[in-house]
Amino acid sequence: MTGSTSESTELLAERGTEPAERLLELRGLTKEFDLTSTMFRRVTGRLTAVREVDLELDRGETLALVGESGSGKTTLGRMVVRAIDPTRGEVRLRTGSGWVDLAALRGAELRRTRRNFHMIFQDPYSSLDPRMTVYEAVREPLVHNKVASGQEAKDLVVRALERVGLSAQHLSRYPHAFSGGQRQRIGFARSLVCDPQLIVCDEPVSALDVSVQAQILNLLKDLQASLGLSYLFIAHDLSVVQHLAQRVAVMYAGNVVELAPKDSLFDRPRHPYTEALLSAMPVPEPDRVRERIVLRGEPANPADLPTGCVFHPRCRYATEICRVEIPQRREIAPGHTAACHHAEELQLKGVM
Ligand code: SF4
Repeated sequence: MTGSTSESTELLAERGTEPAERLLELRGLTKEFDLTSTMFRRVTGRLTAVREVDLELDRGETLALVGESGSGKTTLGRMVVRAIDPTRGEVRLRTGSGWVDLAALRGAELRRTRRNFHMIFQDPYSSLDPRMTVYEAVREPLVHNKVASGQEAKDLVVRALERVGLSAQHLSRYPHAFSGGQRQRIGFARSLVCDPQLIVCDEPVSALDVSVQAQILNLLKDLQASLGLSYLFIAHDLSVVQHLAQRVAVMYAGNVVELAPKDSLFDRPRHPYTEALLSAMPVPEPDRVRERIVLRGEPANPADLPTGCVFHPRCRYATEICRVEIPQRREIAPGHTAACHHAEELQLKGVM
């Protein structure tokens, strides 16, 4: 199940704001990959990287996707921007001309819609072509999506650079002349130049020095406030998520196991996997001791998932029902959903 419209409305009422406009809806989004034998070049099995994900994102909102590596968050983000094709499911985006299902678009239709969204990658060093000047790199989406050319394109490039704290004097330089933080700013300028509504950020600060991370996160916040951007923010660092996100979706083995407003999730998680992730966060006060929950075993194998709750082999609260019955994600508190048979009765520890 999903966080429903009524859940979102209650949540916004709690925040004392008007219901926000919905921008993105994922419905049953699934990605499967064939497993092939290299020797015989035949399909030997199927791996489900993302399973039946339902999520929503409002205009101007930041939704963080968290989970261990291999949990499916980057695959999900790449499907949203159609860097890879979903196996099934819908990616519904509200555009100037109404709702479109990105998963169903092809060719010119998909290219026309691409100006509405963009993806920023983790590594500012490899995400820029070292042979392209800043001007060429930032202009590329305008050319690729047939948005503008000539002087109009140049004006849009300069505007995008100024929005991220750079200027026209940087146009003719090459990426190697910039620091990691500046290169990430160039990456943001590339993502902004077509005036998108949605940006998928894949760990955009994890390759940067801690001192630069805060500047980049503040830049993301400022851009969101001034341009009304929506972020799908993929991260493994929960401190970053705490700083930036309004809601958090926790992924395990390709599925969303918990979805909640940030404070609700950090204060009182409802899924044992989330509790374990939070227990690994650094404690700001040196005198405070918090139990670190070390998960036993390996993350679930997406090619051979456990029966029942896929988390049960690693869960210290598992009971018999967990081994046989798949828990459905359901609302436990306003706007807070979790897929755990015992979500209502467990008193899990948060960090606040
Ligand atoms: Fe743990 Fe059972 Fe909840 Fe799964 S359903 S997270 S195994 S308590």
